[in-house]
Amino acid sequence: MKHASCLIALLAALCLGVTDTGASQRGGGGPGTTYLLRPDRVFDGDTMQQGWAVLVRGQRIEAAGPRSNVTAPAGAETIDMPGVTLMPGLIEAHSHVLLHAYNETPWNDQVLREPEALRVARAVNHLKSTLESGYTTIRDLGTEGAGYADAGLKQAVNQGIIPGPRMIVTTRAIVATGTYAPKGFSPDWTIPQGAEEADGQTLVRVVRDQAGHGADWIKVYGDYRAGPNGEAMATFSQDEMNLIVTTASSIGRPVVVHSSTPEGMRRAVMAGARTIEHGDGGTAEIFKLMAAQGVALCPTLAAGDATSQYGGWKKGTDPEPAGIRRKRESFKLALDSGVTIAAGSDVGVFPHGESARELELMVAYGMPALAALKSATSVNARVMKMEVQIGRVATGLLADLIAVTGDPVADISATRKVTFVMKGGVVVRRSQ
Ligand SMILES: [Zn+2]
Repeated sequence: MKHASCLIALLAALCLGVTDTGASQRGGGGPGTTYLLRPDRVFDGDTMQQGWAVLVRGQRIEAAGPRSNVTAPAGAETIDMPGVTLMPGLIEAHSHVLLHAYNETPWNDQVLREPEALRVARAVNHLKSTLESGYTTIRDLGTEGAGYADAGLKQAVNQGIIPGPRMIVTTRAIVATGTYAPKGFSPDWTIPQGAEEADGQTLVRVVRDQAGHGADWIKVYGDYRAGPNGEAMATFSQDEMNLIVTTASSIGRPVVVHSSTPEGMRRAVMAGARTIEHGDGGTAEIFKLMAAQGVALCPTLAAGDATSQYGGWKKGTDPEPAGIRRKRESFKLALDSGVTIAAGSDVGVFPHGESARELELMVAYGMPALAALKSATSVNARVMKMEVQIGRVATGLLADLIAVTGDPVADISATRKVTFVMKGGVVVRRSQ
């Protein structure tokens, strides 16, 4: 109930279409209010700025800079924010809002036993907690058996029916026949899969069909545990990957490839994928190839960290499992190679609203905190080709702004301490 008024305000803003006209006269904290925000410091998407103020009018940032240069027009609401850092709304490059934590319900059971309506009901809550945790944009990478529900949820957010971040969606995602999951049942049964199977020329139809059902990007599993002993192996051939990317590109859809093997990653790069997800088995050579071809790596460190703990690893007490050690090593190779790192956590494996785990792990695994913050803001915006709308605190961009207690460059875990969230100029969270 606490957030009912915010929701109504958000709905009103979206129905009316927030404009700049007369905004400064309205005041009072509703949509269309002009705000002058005065935090201790501003992370603008590139560097930390001291003594800045930010003026928001309507949906957009009207001015950002030294306080002496940014003044409040008549009727503006001034918000003093002592002790906090104002920064761009965070961008999650790899989420699954239609999944919930695997230690609550294993993935197989979510796909096979949970009705789609149940999954959508959960997703509504997940979107709310994501937004309130400071993530104002997500790239959601597959419904894992929940059809095209992500495309409907995106409409619900855009129409102001439910609160949530801006969504880039991929719908069902694509896997090579026989390679995905759930697996291990009698061949007498046809088991629903967590993504849509397609091969050869059928890929052309499936790419177009998913795009037609609302996919903004095309998500492909370039490898999976398809080897004779369940080991990860490249699935789609180079020709198939090329066909996917060519078909998707011609209708303006970038391709995102799940891949953990060097061969799967190499095929994805050669085909022209925009991002590669996980990349656990990436070598120095593959990461250099990605850097040279402008393919970003989304490392999803938080997923392995969570599943290892679900498997019994007592973090901080037990030695690190081999999988975590290998992940640290490959992430280091990626950092050294200069490949673009897109912050994405695979949230859904662990609870929604905790995507900041990824930023903490990026720093724990050797990335400077400032680089991790850039990754989750300006870099992710560029990867998504949305840099003229989001990802920085700069004049003319959408006012997707959050405030966190403390200085996240000094301590990255400050990104968990979100006290203020604004999306498109509308305040959606404000704690005193
Ligand atoms: Zn994922």
